[in-house]
Amino acid sequence: MKELKELIKYSRLAAEKGLTVGPAGNVSFRVKDRMFLKASGIWMSELRLKDLVEVDLNSLKTIGRSRLCPSCEFRFHAAIYVRRPEIKCVMHTHPVYATVLGRKTCFQPELCPEFGVYLKTAAFLPKMEAGSEELARKVGEAAGHELIYLQAHGIIALGQDVKQAFLRSLLAERMARMVFLGLMVDR
Ligand SMILES: [Zn+2]
Repeated sequence: MKELKELIKYSRLAAEKGLTVGPAGNVSFRVKDRMFLKASGIWMSELRLKDLVEVDLNSLKTIGRSRLCPSCEFRFHAAIYVRRPEIKCVMHTHPVYATVLGRKTCFQPELCPEFGVYLKTAAFLPKMEAGSEELARKVGEAAGHELIYLQAHGIIALGQDVKQAFLRSLLAERMARMVFLGLMVDR
């Protein structure tokens, strides 16, 4: 499937761009009522087709005979897809600046024209345990946004295709860097 190859490509690129390191972060692509999600423990920089686990969005059960377990964040990926039928890709990363500056005052799409075009709305969630049902529930409630900041954890970018989710991830980090530099200059 062309889209899954694209998912692999942009997962690796996201790691190359420093949005995440090691096995942290996860990506998924939705096909009807199922999603293909990165397996737990796999590095985004090394993702291959066989490292994707197929999961039913309603039962949250793994489909097929994969011996791999889906990423521990499978619940929040599914929570987004269930609420947003037009969303096809979810990319969750741990970028440094966006994570450190993940506060409401740091989401400033007006800083640069490209931000406002591709990134209009964001939600901000407080610190919660990674992989928890609570986190999945809150992410589901925030799924109307294009970007979700997770305090002291990372970001979740939603896209109608893989490239859009990737672009929003990059822009979130770029925006955070600009905000950070702005704070330094204004000191
Ligand atoms: Zn994470």
